[in-house]
Amino acid sequence: MNWLDKITASHVRSLTPYESARRLFASSGHQSRVYLNANESPTADCFEIDSSHFNRYPDCQPSELISAYADYAELNPDQVIATRGADEGIELLIRAFCTPAKSKVLICTPTYGMYAISAQTFNVGIVDVELLPDFSLNLADIKQQVGNVNIVFLCSPNNPTGTLLNQSDIHEVLTAYKDSAIVVLDEAYIEFSARHNNANLLKQYSNLVILRTLSKAFGLAGIRCGFMLCSDAIHSVIMKVIAPYPISDPVAQIASTSLSEKGLAHMSARVDELNIELNKLKHALCEIDAVDVVGEQCGNFILFRSSLNQELMQFLVEQNVLIRNQSKQTNLNNCLRISAGTSSENDKVISLIQQFFIKHANSTQQKAN
Ligand SMILES: *Cc1c(COP(=O)(O)O)cnc(C)c1O
Repeated sequence: MNWLDKITASHVRSLTPYESARRLFASSGHQSRVYLNANESPTADCFEIDSSHFNRYPDCQPSELISAYADYAELNPDQVIATRGADEGIELLIRAFCTPAKSKVLICTPTYGMYAISAQTFNVGIVDVELLPDFSLNLADIKQQVGNVNIVFLCSPNNPTGTLLNQSDIHEVLTAYKDSAIVVLDEAYIEFSARHNNANLLKQYSNLVILRTLSKAFGLAGIRCGFMLCSDAIHSVIMKVIAPYPISDPVAQIASTSLSEKGLAHMSARVDELNIELNKLKHALCEIDAVDVVGEQCGNFILFRSSLNQELMQFLVEQNVLIRNQSKQTNLNNCLRISAGTSSENDKVISLIQQFFIKHANSTQQKAN
C-alpha cells in the first residue's frame, strides 16, 4: 500500500465517487447536446449582480435571503437555514446527528442517491427499508427501526419514481420517531405538485426537517442554493456544524431575486409549462408498446421501463440526447428517467424513441422472416 492509501480513511478508500449526471457527461464544449438527465430546468434566467460588497465576507445566513424564503414557505426566519444546495443540507444533518462508526440512517429505496453516499462518506450505517411495489412506505418495517436509526430520509415527490407519499404515512413516521430521530422530508420537487403545505407540520412535530432547493423549479442548479426548514432547536444544532460562509454574496443576490414576487411568478409559469411538457412525454411513451411508464409524474421527470433500455440509452447518446439510467436502483431494473426539457427538446427525444422502436421492430421482423 502506498503512503496515500495508508493515510486515507479506510471507509473512504472503499468509496467510489457518486456518478452524478454531470460527471457522467460533462456539460462543457457540447452545445449541441440535449441534457434531459439531471432534472434541471431547460432554460436559464438573467440576473444583475451588485459587486460593491465583494471585498467583504458574506453573512453566514444572509438575512434578506432568509426572510425571502421564510415568506415564501410561510415560516419564521428562525425556522429557515440556507445551504449550498439541498445536498449540503443532507450532509449537515448527518454530521450533526450521527456518530461515525456508530449511528445509522434509514432510507427507502428506490430513492435519491445522496442520502446513502453522504452517510458512507461519514462512516455512518444505512438501513434500507425498501418502498412497497406501489412505491409507498413500508410503515410496519419502518416502525421496527425506532431506536436503531438517528435520521429517517423520506422523499416526496420521490426521485426517480415521481410518486408522492401519503400524507397519513408521513404523520405516522413523524409520530413513531418523535422522541428518537430526525425525520427528513426531501421536497426538492414540491413546486411541481404542491398539494399540502408540509411546512405547517413543523408546528406539530419538532423532529421534522424539510429540505428544499432552488435547483429544480427555480431553474438555478448552477448557483447551488437550498434550504432546510426546521424547529429552532434543530436550527441551533445545525449552526454548530455549518461553514462560516456557505452562501456567497452573488448567490444570495440571485436567490433573493428569484424569490421576489416577479421571480415567484416566473417560477410558477415555468412549472406550468413543464407540467404540460411532462404530460406530452407521458402520452407519447404510453403509445409505445415496448415501453411501460413507471410510478407517477409529480416532479419534472418521467420514469419508464423497457427491456431494450441499454440499447435505447446508447442510441440516444449517439444522437446527443442524454437521459438517465436508473436500472441499478432497487426494483427499477430496465428503467430510464427523462427530465422534461423545452418543447422542442421533448419533441426530439420522443421522435428518437419512436424511431428506435420502429427500427427495432423491423429488424426483429426481418430476423423472424
Ligand atoms: C436534485 C435533488 C436534490 C439536490 O438538490 P441541490 O439543491 O441541487 O443540492 C436533493 N434531493 C432530491 C430528491 C433531488 O432530486
